Amino acid sequence: MTAIRPCPLCGGQCQPFANFSLTIDHAGLSDTVTGLSGWQCAAADCAEMLFDDDSQRRYAQASDALVLAARRQTGQELRRIRRKLKLTQADAALLTGGGHNGFSRYEKGLTQPLPAVINLFRLLDRHPEMLGELLRDRPARQAA
Ligand SMILES: [Zn+2]
Repeated sequence: MTAIRPCPLCGGQCQPFANFSLTIDHAGLSDTVTGLSGWQCAAADCAEMLFDDDSQRRYAQASDALVLAARRQTGQELRRIRRKLKLTQADAALLTGGGHNGFSRYEKGLTQPLPAVINLFRLLDRHPEMLGELLRDRPARQAA
């Protein structure tokens, strides 16, 4: 570990640190990255942390993995609810406006749906009888 660095935020002095653990929380999931090292500003009202390259890379990887895991989890939830409602992916795409393959992409975790889509499906999960209200004025389904 190299010596003291200037703080990019306040111009104070950053002292080296090592073996730091940081827990990342995202959408109800969490992961702890251990063994992080870098520099921290000694000014109490700043305390900016700078990771070294390896720690920055490992922190970013853990963050990205959490985002993907949360997206997959959301996709699995949407698929479960869609099947419970006996909707095809095309039906669900018509309801949510996500485009022809939009719902398939949500279920595969390739695209993060808008909160409105998730909220609609969670409501329908609890109140499946409301689906009839939504389908009543919808154009007839095209032959598949
Ligand atoms: Zn600082």
